Amino acid sequence: MSEQFLPQTQDPDDELSLAARLALVQARVAQAAQRAGRDPAEVTLVAVSKTKPFGMIAELAAAGQMDFGENRLEELWEKVELTESQGVAGLRWHLIGTIQSRKSKLAVGPFALIHSVDTHKLAERLSRDAAAAGQTVTALLEVNVSGEESKHGFTPDEVLADLPALLAMPGLHLQGLMTMAPLESAAESARPIFRRLRLLLEEIRQRFPQGDWRHLSMGMTNDFEVAIEEGATIVRVGTAIFGKREMG
Ligand SMILES: *Cc1c(COP(=O)(O)O)cnc(C)c1O
Repeated sequence: MSEQFLPQTQDPDDELSLAARLALVQARVAQAAQRAGRDPAEVTLVAVSKTKPFGMIAELAAAGQMDFGENRLEELWEKVELTESQGVAGLRWHLIGTIQSRKSKLAVGPFALIHSVDTHKLAERLSRDAAAAGQTVTALLEVNVSGEESKHGFTPDEVLADLPALLAMPGLHLQGLMTMAPLESAAESARPIFRRLRLLLEEIRQRFPQGDWRHLSMGMTNDFEVAIEEGATIVRVGTAIFGKREMG
């Protein structure tokens, strides 16, 4: 098709319904998995709903999207409570944002997975609070692979050194690693970062075979296809599904 026939809006996806945007992202997830010789069913798409209203979540849930991600504890709890009061059942909530350790109690709740355990101190508090509540927190360790100062997370060396202690924490069930690639850059430039996270997980599998190392959470709107090619089992996609955010 020649270019003159393509829609002339800034973002052609703007005209589509939420369910149609979700279907487009699902198709891109499946294609990326197939390119890498992987089964698309190995990749969980987390729809990042931060700042977006509950109605959009309900609409996506009706279209079959069950995994949602939020980065602020207060907003997460509000939405969990709305889901329950509105009778939207079966959603799996992912906490993906930075948690201040003084708020660790709020992170113990009906959540499928916490992606962002970024310090030893936070891990310790989560474990303590979960154990006190008779629960276990299922979590990933956030790793700062790129070494950017602005990024949260353990360095790869810190993770390896701290794992014996982390694995001994009674209220914490670790399931893998998460990382954030540099924002606003070309998708391909994230590839070496995603690859390093996968290699780190492989090293951890060998050195700590007693652990449950099933997940690599990496890839967002800009770069989720590259992340899948590099082994992501969870991608966290907001903008491509929900449209642009005002803030957050
Ligand atoms: C906001 C956010 C995302 C989603 O970002 P998009 O670029 O909108 O897809 C993914 N992961 C984390 C940790 C986020 O805070």
